[in-house]
Amino acid sequence: MLSTMQDVPLLISRILTHGSTIHGKSQVTTWTGEAEPQRRSFAEIGARAAQLAHALRELGVEDGQAAGTLMWNNAEHVEAYLAIPSMGAVLHTLNLRLPAEQLIWIVNHAADRVVIVNGSLLPLLAPLLPHLPTLEHLVVSGPGDRSVLDDIDGAGPQVHEYEELLAGRPTAYDWPQLDERQAAAMCYTSGTTGDPKGVVYSHRSIYLHSMQVNMAESMGLTDQDTTLVVVPQFHVNAWGLPHATFMAGVSMLMPDRFLQPAPLADMIEREKPTHAAAVPTIWQGLLAEVTARPRDLTSMRRVTIGGAACPPSLMEAYDKLGVRLCHAWGMTETSPLGTMSNPPAGLSAEEEWPYRITQGRFPAGVEARLAGPGGAFLPWDGESAGELEVRGPWIAGAYFGGAGGDDFRPADKFSPDGWLRTGDVGVISPDGYLTLTDRAKDVIKSGGEWISSQELENALMAHPEVVEAAVVAVPDDKWGERPLATVVLKPGATADYAALKSFLAEKIAKWQLPERWALIESVPKTSVGKFDKKVIRRQYADGELEVTELR
Ligand code: AMP
Repeated sequence: MLSTMQDVPLLISRILTHGSTIHGKSQVTTWTGEAEPQRRSFAEIGARAAQLAHALRELGVEDGQAAGTLMWNNAEHVEAYLAIPSMGAVLHTLNLRLPAEQLIWIVNHAADRVVIVNGSLLPLLAPLLPHLPTLEHLVVSGPGDRSVLDDIDGAGPQVHEYEELLAGRPTAYDWPQLDERQAAAMCYTSGTTGDPKGVVYSHRSIYLHSMQVNMAESMGLTDQDTTLVVVPQFHVNAWGLPHATFMAGVSMLMPDRFLQPAPLADMIEREKPTHAAAVPTIWQGLLAEVTARPRDLTSMRRVTIGGAACPPSLMEAYDKLGVRLCHAWGMTETSPLGTMSNPPAGLSAEEEWPYRITQGRFPAGVEARLAGPGGAFLPWDGESAGELEVRGPWIAGAYFGGAGGDDFRPADKFSPDGWLRTGDVGVISPDGYLTLTDRAKDVIKSGGEWISSQELENALMAHPEVVEAAVVAVPDDKWGERPLATVVLKPGATADYAALKSFLAEKIAKWQLPERWALIESVPKTSVGKFDKKVIRRQYADGELEVTELR
């Protein structure tokens, strides 16, 4: 028997209409680097999204076609987030930190017809234009020298000014009743090996994910909140925030291109956001900044930190500043919300701590299992370590457009019964808290035993003179692999390798302690600010690191 309920599709146009009317007074504030930021209400954003949709339709963007954005986090980017999917096209956010050849590959693979670009990013895009044959229109928004486009020849895309394109168009749009399973947005994974892989989100998956983000057990945001969205809009849709916040009327503070620690600290002190979201690297940088030049960060009731493991020492440092970091795990393939580390109710601060430093609990929409080495599924006993597999309505079931044009499911990424193989290794406690020990490819396999690079890094970063530490596996004649510890020390630090090693020995089993050590200036980072361990492995292999052995 079927239900008697209405079957209304879950569409982004509903989020847009709801946010711009019921929550019309909520605001998107974009940092400009000048005395006053730009402020735009949700009502204005809704009207401008309708104008943008009319403009894109006139430029020939059809149902199901990809329209790209190469933009910072700002109000115009939110308009694109709402307009493009609502009109039936596919929002394709482009990662502005990718190498040129990957950007070219991605734009061509998605066949973007239009790209909206911030003026300040034109120097990055202009040299790529001759390699982007599908691109017919370039829409330029915000400050930045346009003269880099002077050399486009007749075969290049037509160039439009964003504001001129919107001006005078109707501020309402008859949004189509789409199939909720239709493509709404796409992101490519950074592709450490092989070509980047496209993940395509549906209206339904984004709608359900937005509801989960807003639940009290996740970020729990309401129209009383302002969230500082530091995580880039090109990194898994800024973790779903622009859609989730529009749904719940949460005001957004957007840093645009001012992502350095000093302007971030200034914007927090001045605009007083109640929440923020970013990867650990950002919070490390901000901590150093406010240690040197104190600012008041206490408006932030809570901060979502994820995308890479949060060192417990960082969480402690922010506790002391009156800011609570809440650890979250996710992937491009999981929209990204997979877990959040809210402790169970009724615990003292001391009892909460072991829960807070886990990656967190799964919401109802994310089913999880741990696959052991032989393929058997492991118990949730807090001890049995295996590869995490997940499934749910906002988890990818395939990648976009393989060799023959069809979506594809590589066996190392999807199980035969359709679960996503995350490539993350960890344990799950009986009450459902996930603790990751490593990426499968980063685990150090020493004499048949596994050493967690993440555990070593967390222990090292708890040392008061250590800024950052990354541990990688390096080949070893006797043990197969052993850990190499690369460490960034604070200026003026006095700790030597022996001191660091004995500091580690207080927490780590002796056989896991690294013998190989190298001081580095900073840990290499990926395009979204995570530790890039493949670079360290290569530097070691090429003899570029000055390694000291301590047996
Ligand atoms: P991406 O799709 O580029 O965002 O990368 C996803 C990967 O980032 C995951 O598979 C994890 O390896 C890593 N990751 C994300 N969040 C966390 C976290 N809280 N702790 C440890 N690793 C994380």
